[in-house]
Amino acid sequence: MTFSLRPTCTDPHLAPLVDRLRDYLDGELAAYEHDRGITRASRLTRADLQPVWQRSRELGFYGIHLPKKYGGQDLTHTQLAALKEEVGASGRVLGHSVLGDMGGPLRAGDILRYATEYQLKTYFLPVVRAERACCFSLTETDAGSDVRSMRTTAQRDGDGYVLNGHKVFSSAGPFADFALVVARMADTNTDINTGINTGINTGTSTGSGTAEGESDKPRFSAFLLDLDTPGCRVLDGATPMSGEHIESDIVLENCRVPAENLLGEEGQGLRIALGRVTVNRLLHCPTALGAMRRALDLTLDRTRHRTVAGGRPLLALQAIQHKVADMATDFYAARSMTYAALAALDRGEDVRTEAFMCKLFVAESAFRLLDEAVQLHGKEGLTQGNEIEYLFRKMRMFRILTGTSEIQRNGIARDLAS
Ligand SMILES: Cc1cc2nc3c(=O)[nH]c(=O)nc-3n(C[C@H](O)[C@H](O)[C@H](O)COP(=O)(O)OP(=O)(O)OC[C@H]3O[C@@H](n4cnc5c(N)ncnc54)[C@H](O)[C@@H]3O)c2cc1C
Repeated sequence: MTFSLRPTCTDPHLAPLVDRLRDYLDGELAAYEHDRGITRASRLTRADLQPVWQRSRELGFYGIHLPKKYGGQDLTHTQLAALKEEVGASGRVLGHSVLGDMGGPLRAGDILRYATEYQLKTYFLPVVRAERACCFSLTETDAGSDVRSMRTTAQRDGDGYVLNGHKVFSSAGPFADFALVVARMADTNTDINTGINTGINTGTSTGSGTAEGESDKPRFSAFLLDLDTPGCRVLDGATPMSGEHIESDIVLENCRVPAENLLGEEGQGLRIALGRVTVNRLLHCPTALGAMRRALDLTLDRTRHRTVAGGRPLLALQAIQHKVADMATDFYAARSMTYAALAALDRGEDVRTEAFMCKLFVAESAFRLLDEAVQLHGKEGLTQGNEIEYLFRKMRMFRILTGTSEIQRNGIARDLAS
């Protein structure tokens, strides 16, 4: 049987890393959360997170995927995914701060590829050292899946740019020192119907042959913006159904950014901000796989110990066994396809369509699995403070975050039709 809730790791480099990571998550990090009274309902502060970033860096986990010259271990996508799944399965509230998802090197994403020496020194390397943190600001109230309809503008002005607009849902904003902000160049066409096809949230083609930069099309640029710049205000963002207070609105009013903070070239903004789209899409999946694994584990535990009339455990009932079997099957399918796509990516193959499929299937199956987990936990699964109740809300969000399920379907269908 190849299925296992806690897979045995056969990669000789990865196996000791996974063991060390599990020890840290279940030991020191669990104790840290306990000592500081941190629960899922806590309003986290930078003072809660920064020690975890720093300790995770000391242990070699923070930014572990990066090249060795940046203190990482140059992991393959598959290796990074395995660590992300482990974090997701740990149930730790601060798990997001261990590998660098919350304001750290994983959120900084593709900055590295485009950064100048100055930008590396001032922005990227301090993030890797866990000294500074960043957020990613693309979405606006009326620009989500269709990011091209964004209204935030960048106007060239002497030796810099002036930004105006209002970004919403910048995750990690409350803890960040700077943001990667994407804005439309003010001198380009606002008619979104003539816009480029970004292929990111819309699920359409991202080919490098897109016509970004043509004069009759809107052009987008990416900026590294210090959040204490005059004209920039960071406001408490909306609280999503997960209950986490990790979102910010970023309001820009005649906010001046020096030209040296332009990331890449003018007009490259969307491509840079959304980076290696296929890779990012795939790398969001293992965290959800971890949550699925955790939920299945908790459900097995509960149904083994919860007794019904006659003193029999729930898990002795065939109706319950079938539910658990379906949950495990969903998990196995979701995990198998994700790691198959990651392995192909590591071999250098084009897995664009597969990445759409993985994001779609993992999100939809995670939601199904969590729905059954709630069912099998009865009133406990409906009670705030119960981990299953939290995971259910979190996995419901994953069908929308980082590209909705509909957008993934658009991408798959388009690839099949082309
Ligand atoms: C908790 C949370 C964290 C987030 N973090 C960030 C962040 O850090 N940075 C950031 O920039 N953004 C962030 N976002 C924004 C997120 O990326 C968007 O919510 C997402 O892209 C969807 O956009 P929307 O919510 O505006 O939905 P809409 O685009 O309004 O979509 C609504 C519905 O219409 C469907 N739909 C839209 N277009 C199509 C189409 N062409 N074909 C078929 N169906 C379609 C969608 O699938 C969806 O079901 C975050 C959001 C949340 C909730």
